[in-house]
Amino acid sequence: MLITAPRLVPATPGTGVLAPGYVTIAGGLVTEVGQGPPPRAPDLALDGGVLVPGLVDLQLNGYFGEELMTAGAAGWAAVASRLTATGATSFMPTFITAPLAELAASLRSAALIATARPAGGARVLGVHVEGPFIAPGRRGAHNAAWIIPPSAAAIDELLAAGAGLVTLVTLAPELDGGLAAVRRLTAAGVLVSVGHSDATADVVAAAAGAGARMVTHLYNAQRPLHHREPGVVGQALADPRLTSGLIADLRHVAAQPCVIAFAAAPGRICLVTDAAPCAGLPPGRYLLGGEPPVRADGTLAGSALRMDAAVANMAAAGVGLAAAVAAASRVPADLIGRPELGRIAPGAAADLAWLGGDLRAKATWVAGEKVFG
Ligand code: ZN
Repeated sequence: MLITAPRLVPATPGTGVLAPGYVTIAGGLVTEVGQGPPPRAPDLALDGGVLVPGLVDLQLNGYFGEELMTAGAAGWAAVASRLTATGATSFMPTFITAPLAELAASLRSAALIATARPAGGARVLGVHVEGPFIAPGRRGAHNAAWIIPPSAAAIDELLAAGAGLVTLVTLAPELDGGLAAVRRLTAAGVLVSVGHSDATADVVAAAAGAGARMVTHLYNAQRPLHHREPGVVGQALADPRLTSGLIADLRHVAAQPCVIAFAAAPGRICLVTDAAPCAGLPPGRYLLGGEPPVRADGTLAGSALRMDAAVANMAAAGVGLAAAVAAASRVPADLIGRPELGRIAPGAAADLAWLGGDLRAKATWVAGEKVFG
């Protein structure tokens, strides 16, 4: 199949925006991508907008009323299916701080559900376990009663329960045993992200030295940048070993600090939704963990952000369309060691999103198969 588009963002380094561009697909993979007139008549000529890689979300708690941590197989399938309407073609279900036994039970259930990709839906990239090894003073909406130290036994229990599904763990490295936990998880092949953390810059650097490669939702629920104590934010932006998640809904973080992050850490920002289960539902009043999503102290519990809107917000903020798209596709895919995703390049999976002129998803393909639009 040959698709042409007035604009195409391959999201590979240095390619920018191809205008016009074309892509050929065979066997679920991209076989060719190019700029200018296509080599033959197209099978599908997109008449506007921009064709981009399917978007990759590393932090999603739920969508359309389903909370992934507690949802069963039908709930996971519904989320995987409905997410494709947002341009996302792969996502990482995210489980937040809970009693250890509950978290382990959720992981055991998830490991059974995730063995097969639900038909017609976005790919599941493993589970992101956010907590319970976090700083009480930076817990955000996480329940303080369920925060525990990162003991080897607790880590091993979660990894065993997930049976290979635990892909990303957010923790606070300054806790007692924190750096040992980073080493233990890294040795087990798990990507470690610094988050919900009050660590100083030196401790974040030590965590990177121990194997951490990510910072969770930059700016939110972490020690901020101070010019004498750069904190989590300062180290995240300055350290080339670290890539930062960013909730670019312009509520969790204003536009200017988003622009600063893209400028300070080019190629090291990945857009995430951190979507709460009420995301995708009509406007209204919803509860999350029995409380409203905006807590009395102003803390935000999850977002209603869509990946296509995150790209649109960053493009409008001025980071450039190609950089905004890459931050939502190739950067997160590379970070989790999935270089076959998140780019339009020969040999990559034919996961594509057609965004309209307003950058809202109009059609989505997973492995070359149209799943939305
Ligand atoms: Zn969080």
